[in-house]
Amino acid sequence: MKALVLEKYNHLVYKDVPDPEISSDEVLVQVKACGICGSDIHGFDGSTGRRIPPLIMGHEASGVIVKTGSNVKGWKAGDRITFDSTVYHQDDWFTLKGLYNLSDNREVFGVSPGTYKRNGAFAEYLAVPQHILYKIPENVTFEQAAMVESVAVALHSINISGLEPGNTTVVIGAGMIGVFVIKLLKISGASCIIAIDISEKQLERAEKAGADYTFLAEEDNLIEKIKSVTGNRGTDIAFEAVGKNPSANLAFEAVRKGGKIVLIGNITPVIEFPLQKVVTSELKVSGSCAICGEYEAVLNFIKMGRICVDDQISAVAPLSEGAAWFERLYKNEEDAGKVILVP
Ligand SMILES: [Zn+2]
Repeated sequence: MKALVLEKYNHLVYKDVPDPEISSDEVLVQVKACGICGSDIHGFDGSTGRRIPPLIMGHEASGVIVKTGSNVKGWKAGDRITFDSTVYHQDDWFTLKGLYNLSDNREVFGVSPGTYKRNGAFAEYLAVPQHILYKIPENVTFEQAAMVESVAVALHSINISGLEPGNTTVVIGAGMIGVFVIKLLKISGASCIIAIDISEKQLERAEKAGADYTFLAEEDNLIEKIKSVTGNRGTDIAFEAVGKNPSANLAFEAVRKGGKIVLIGNITPVIEFPLQKVVTSELKVSGSCAICGEYEAVLNFIKMGRICVDDQISAVAPLSEGAAWFERLYKNEEDAGKVILVP
């Protein structure tokens, strides 16, 4: 089959590789669409250490089943599917507690951090375990299904935030995940959505996605402006979708006393932590890791037209042109939307 292989850092080659073999619990998927994730771009040059070459990247994918293993039940050739980006063990202690996103020895498609290597979906075919498959509704396209992973990451952060209808919220970082957090907050009953970013362009996207107020991160009196639209208290919840020290600390400043901070971005390993403020304001701080069962709900949101993902797709291109698209995205720091590659 053809695949886009990261042969060494900053060097992708579209070439022939052996077809994947499937085990008895797996299906062979003919990949129809696979999105380029920000984490692929950050891994492409070796900076994250999570894409050690040689590797086929790609974890935001959809396709058609072409072959099933002998133990596969409920799935057949011809089924249109998408699948979780994470392969987890079903008998793991955390999985059995309903926390498969935290399970031990989980693997992400298209990732090789040193402890494992699992090829991903920038290829014609991929072997996928049956327990992580999801059926694509008839009126949902393969490209839309390739967007589900990003939306599911956003939905997971809202699910663990304890959001209640009427809550006031701020979303810091209006990249792909931040924009989907905004769209989901809109349909989850947030009474006020504030978006903050360092870029005007990203704030325009945030506004289109449904943000009620948008502010530049370096604006004067930013905290007062946030307070002025939240009863002089600050927001009930802050979602941080950047993962750097200034943006995370802005989240601590923007929430009200007793408020909650949900940290999604994770670019920086360590940040300053405002201990006294967290203690004296009784702030609740929670990390949000990947996805834990949100795929089906997101597929339904798309099927029912509750959420639009098409406006976040900036290009659909052949996989053979993947290397050029990676170059382009690598040079352009701004998150301009999702590029989807089609094998
Ligand atoms: Zn991703």
